[in-house]
Amino acid sequence: MRIFLLLLHASLVVAPGAALSSEPFPVVVSTWPFVEAVRAAWRVVTAGFSAIDAVVDGCSTCEELRCDGTVGPGGSPDENGETTLDALLMNGSTMEVGAVAAMRFVKDGIKAAKLVMEHTEHTLIVGEMASIFAISMGLHGPSNLSSPESLEKWIRWKRNSCQPNFRKNVIPTNSCGPYYLSDAASTLAKKSLGELGKNFPEYNMLVASKANYIPVGHLYHDTISMAVIDKAGRIAVGTSTNGATFKIPGRVGDGPIAGSSAYADDEVGACGATGDGDIMMRFLPCYQVVESMRRGMEPKLAAADAISRIARKYPNFVGAIFALNKNGVHAGACHGWTFQYSVRTSSMKEVEVFTVEP
Ligand code: ASP
Repeated sequence: MRIFLLLLHASLVVAPGAALSSEPFPVVVSTWPFVEAVRAAWRVVTAGFSAIDAVVDGCSTCEELRCDGTVGPGGSPDENGETTLDALLMNGSTMEVGAVAAMRFVKDGIKAAKLVMEHTEHTLIVGEMASIFAISMGLHGPSNLSSPESLEKWIRWKRNSCQPNFRKNVIPTNSCGPYYLSDAASTLAKKSLGELGKNFPEYNMLVASKANYIPVGHLYHDTISMAVIDKAGRIAVGTSTNGATFKIPGRVGDGPIAGSSAYADDEVGACGATGDGDIMMRFLPCYQVVESMRRGMEPKLAAADAISRIARKYPNFVGAIFALNKNGVHAGACHGWTFQYSVRTSSMKEVEVFTVEP
């Protein structure tokens, strides 16, 4: 099939005036209406560059534009007010992956991921060591990744007693840390109560087992997850995000996890995801989508199936997926929010945004 498509492509190139609309490649798909990112990737891939180059350019554009305030620097402050980046790049021809997670002080997430993929034998480098690696390989830094907006958001959160947050089964529940295990705190409290010989019924009110759940709406967290099929039918995917707002420092989301936020295999197709990464990474939904398509599922069904596997266990999770098969057929599925994804193919005059209802 691949050989047939390559021949088809070649014949279209040599046939003067052949309608490009019958040409299945290139294709660019991205989560959300990140139209400028898709345009950038489209320019690169139609100029004859590889799917990898197009994904890197597309995701870099989003990082520079700070898409939705949740890609690139300047967004999603963690509990300390710092912005850190997660990014991934995957080559669906070779199955090589490069990724960085919780990377500090470097603005170029996807370029750092490319350096990991192309200049190391590793797959994932994290934290400050990822920053040192990226800078040593020529990326700009160390830079301050905060912005006036991210700092203002963080100050408001501090003033609101650090609510909401991602802690659970700890005390205190309604104020900023330091936080303690509720069980250990209980033991300590009982000990001190014994020593004081007093009754302390109010203590029970402090021991909480319920998380201060973060309202995970659109704009609280987002990822650019992009898939490109280039003129030769090669597929690449990439992601970039600054994660979840008020995350615990050191938290890594699904963004840099291959098979979770994105996955690609030239033999089958690709997938991109966005949403509550802490939950989604437990299911590797993009690996699931690609493997379901390999076994014959249409993209629409494969995407819906991957989402429903998560929803069965976590009915309140918020997330979305797009699936793209190697023939350029795409579809989306979502849960808990309305999802939009952007597509550019030869048969479109402009980037088109598709809306998927939960
Ligand atoms: N999945 C990302 C994360 O959890 C955020 C998002 O895509 O909404 O870090």
